[in-house]
Amino acid sequence: MSIIDELQSLKAEALASIADAETLSQLDSVRVTFLGKKGSLTRVLRGVGFLPAEERPVVGKISNEVRAVLEAAIQERQAALAEADLAARVSADAIDVTLPGRKRLPGRKHLINQIAEEVVDIFLGLGYMVAEGPEVELDHYNFTALNHPPTHPARSATDTFYVRDLSQGLDEDQGPVTEVLLRTHTSPVQVRVMERQKPPVYVIVPGRVYRRDIADPSHLPQFQQIEGLAVDEGITFGDLKGTLDYVCKELFGRDRMTRFRPHFFPFTEPSAEVDVSCGICAGSGCRFCKKTGWLEILGCGIVDPNVFGYVDVDPEVHTGFAFGMGVERIAALRYDIPDLRMLVEGDMRFLRQF
Ligand SMILES: [Zn+2]
Repeated sequence: MSIIDELQSLKAEALASIADAETLSQLDSVRVTFLGKKGSLTRVLRGVGFLPAEERPVVGKISNEVRAVLEAAIQERQAALAEADLAARVSADAIDVTLPGRKRLPGRKHLINQIAEEVVDIFLGLGYMVAEGPEVELDHYNFTALNHPPTHPARSATDTFYVRDLSQGLDEDQGPVTEVLLRTHTSPVQVRVMERQKPPVYVIVPGRVYRRDIADPSHLPQFQQIEGLAVDEGITFGDLKGTLDYVCKELFGRDRMTRFRPHFFPFTEPSAEVDVSCGICAGSGCRFCKKTGWLEILGCGIVDPNVFGYVDVDPEVHTGFAFGMGVERIAALRYDIPDLRMLVEGDMRFLRQF
């Protein structure tokens, strides 16, 4: 092969390698391979000295052309690779400013707390004070002082959570029932308030209560109750009716009616359950009110004189009324919630509606 042929094939080989180089460092090693001090072109040109004198200028000229072509090709490829490299780095570092931001939803009160506060506010407006008591309560306050006979079914261990001190170990002989329990209603606070405060007493008592119920659409083993107590001279059933009728209209709307049905509670006599007219059918009867036109919302009555006996209030001088309502039930009635468990399951898709 003549030296000119060798130069031409070297040129073709080098141009192919330059085109194949995919990075700047690959390109640089191509340059060293062909044009470096120990590169192919240099090696070929060493043979020029052995050529006849008349051929040398021709070969010299061609070899300069080859070098110039290769250098130009490398420069061009270098520019292209540098541009691609920059573009790749720019797109890797890019911040997509069109991405929507993360929306932070504002916190809010749970529906149960909203309604409890609303009820408390209505009574504060009527001059009542807020009272609170322990959730772990003594049998005396939860049952005995509220006129429950020892055989009352609510006292059974199947209805009430009893509390035992297990720090000394579990004593099987101790039996299931103790004097300590999770209160089944907020009514024990009535007794605690009257123990330390002589009439007149006007208190509203919001709080958690516990019953051994299995959670289902209309029962929860733990729920929120609001209790009220008014004790003064000359309080009558008329005062009770007027107060609760006002509260129901505040809670459900001015156009709603109330009715009082005779009932029984151990700590009030007489006692009544209070219904509010159905807001969906306006009293004509529908699925929501089970065709009755009425929705049961609370229990109430005139304080039994026996209860006054436990707290040293003279029933000949003072009379009073008491009532209790379930906050979850009021929420369910007001917003047509079909299952009380939805209120405590923490599903934000549901809770955010309120
Ligand atoms: Zn109805």
